[in-house]
Order: sequence, then C-alpha cells, then structure tokens
Amino acid sequence: MPASRFALPRAHHGVLADADRTALLRVVTALLSTPTAPYFEDGMLAVVRALAAEIPGVTLRSDEHGNLIARRTGSGSRTLAFSAHLDHPGFHPFLRRGRAPAATLHGGVPMTFLPGAELRFHDARSLRSVATARVATAAKGDDDLVYVELEDVRGVVEPGSFGVFDLPGGVMRGTRLSARVCDDLLGAAAILVALAILAREGHPRPLAGIFTRAEETGFVGCIGLLESGVLGKQTSVVGLECSPRRATAKVGRGPVVRVGDRLSVFDPELTHGLQDAASRVKARAPQFAAQRALMDGGSCESTAYNAWGVPAGGACLALGNYHNCGPDGGIAAEFVDWNDLEGLVALLVEMARGFDTPGAVAGASGIRARLIRNWERESGQLSRSSARLCTPARTAARKRRSS
Ligand SMILES: [Zn+2]
Repeated sequence: MPASRFALPRAHHGVLADADRTALLRVVTALLSTPTAPYFEDGMLAVVRALAAEIPGVTLRSDEHGNLIARRTGSGSRTLAFSAHLDHPGFHPFLRRGRAPAATLHGGVPMTFLPGAELRFHDARSLRSVATARVATAAKGDDDLVYVELEDVRGVVEPGSFGVFDLPGGVMRGTRLSARVCDDLLGAAAILVALAILAREGHPRPLAGIFTRAEETGFVGCIGLLESGVLGKQTSVVGLECSPRRATAKVGRGPVVRVGDRLSVFDPELTHGLQDAASRVKARAPQFAAQRALMDGGSCESTAYNAWGVPAGGACLALGNYHNCGPDGGIAAEFVDWNDLEGLVALLVEMARGFDTPGAVAGASGIRARLIRNWERESGQLSRSSARLCTPARTAARKRRSS
C-alpha cells in the first residue's frame, strides 16, 4: 500500500490566500489521517474539536447524541450553519467461537465490491491499529445487514474495534487528492477553514459549523440533532457533501451548487444565495468556476433538515469512486480535485459574507427582486407592444358586448 502524501498542488485558482491554502492542507491531513466509521466517530470528533477550538470566538457544544456544534455569535437573528458528517462506510466486527471473526457493513457499499477488500481494524478509544484482514465473502442477513466473512486475519480483532478499508489516508498527485475517505471529511475540512477565515475578518453575524455522526446509515445523527431541537428556529443550513460525479458536475470543474439530491430539491433562497456567492468569487478570481447540478447519485442531510423545517441548501464536491467503489469492480480510494475544495471554502466564506446583510432581501422575495429588475427594464417595451397586440382583442370584446 502506498504511503500517504499530502502536499499543496502548485497550480491553483487564486481563490484562497497562501496561508489559508496551507491551513486547509493541515486540516485535511489531520482529518484524513484519522480512521472513522458509522458509530465510531470518536477520533474524528476529537480532531474536529481540537481544530475548532483554535478558531477565535468559537464555542463548542455536543448534543445528547454526540453531534458537535461549533458556534460563533454575532448580531442578527438568523444563524447561517454549515453542516457535514464525520462518518464513512465501515465495519463492526464480531467474534465467533472456533471460527475467524466476521463483521457487519454499515453504510452503502454494494456487496459485489467487497470480496477481496483489505480491511484494517482500530481500537475505538485509542484508534490503535489492532488487526488487518481480507473480506472472503459478503452476504445479506435476515436483518438486512451485510455480513462479511474475514480471512487472512493478522493481529487480534478485538470486541469494540471497528474496521475501515485499508487504503492510504490521502495521496496528492497533481491536483487530484485520492483518499480512503473524502466523503465527508472534506466537507468538514471546508467548514473548519471557512469559519477560521470568517473569524479572522471579524464576521459580524452568527455562524455555526455542525458535525454530525452516523449519516451513512440514514442521517441517524442528523435526525437525532433535529429531534433534540438544539438548532433553534432561526437557523439556515448549507449541507456539505462529497457526491458522486455526474455528467453535469465533473471532478475539477469547481465546487457544485447542489440544487437537490435523490430525494428532494433544496431551499430556493439558500440555493440562490450560493449561486450569487459563486458569481462574487468569480468576479474576484476569474479562474474560479462553480457548477450547478442536481446531484442525484445519493441523498444528503439537507433533505433531512428541510423535512424537519430547517431551511437547507447544499454545496458539494464532485467525487470519483464514491464510497470506495473502484472502476474495476473492487475497492479503491475516493478522489476529488484539490482546487474544487479550495473553491468550496471560498464559496462558503462568500455565502456567509452575503447572508442576512442589512438591506438584503430575504426569502423568495430575493429572487422576486431580481425578476422585478427585469420587469422594470423591459415593461415599457411590453406595454408599447401590447397596445398593438391587445387592441383587436379589446375591440372584439366591445363588439361582443354591444351586440
Ligand atoms: Zn456523505
């Protein structure tokens, strides 16, 4: 297995200052070097806590389910929150008397990709690597979970440990970052760096970063968070993801303003806000590009936020080898383009700068205001031409009335 290699690509789009690019690499390295799986986000939460605690003015709070919320207070009633999940498909091992250990899969990886996959098991608390093994077979159980038989077990698979695909934490080649986990640690990284930039410039309005658990098993952490009501009524969310690339959303063509997922379409105001923010980043850094797409290769927490009445938009990175499904039918590293990630950070910062500013027109009226500007420019033409078009109709109506 190749060793991890984290290095800043030289070619970039000029959307982030050099110091912020370096900070982003440091955050990404810390997150991607830490193993995670659904219900085993312990190490990731510790890393995110430590990184968030470095940001001036940020206070940290966990809800009763262990989801982490980093808040920065400010004036204004509405909080703009960025949300990302900290888990990734992984394995829970169990021991069997007289037989090799087996494991259950948690998260969406098609069974056909699993046989032959190399796994590494970690102790939940220390994160120490305790064993490696290879998947021999995979089959669905009566409980609908996928069970894998393990072979070539080296080390001791301890009860309470968890398994991940045994792939390098991250390898940068050119501007391509290949990693055991892009989804969604790069979303979390984008939030941490965006909050740090906004804190440094003394952003005046309330902000939050939400880091959820157990997204891969059906938004479970996020639903717990929504049920607990800790977010408050005046929160708007931008859900961040790494989402399977599409014909309309390619790796390397910029961050994606995600208009929806497989299950729902997202909040028009926030989508519009992201689109506007992308235009402002582009005006400043002409090499920057953003894509706008329905990312229906998966569903994301924005669907859950909206379903619970918390308005949510979405932004994501176009992702290759989604959930480690490689092109040859086996397990492989996920990959993104590093400049898409830098662009995503710039997009979030710009979104916050424009959100709930004095004089900004909120809600559907924001889009309406844009349409009204067209109306004001064009309505003279409409009325002059309608005098010509409508006269016969009026005359006809008069004729009908008088007859
Ligand atoms: Zn995800």
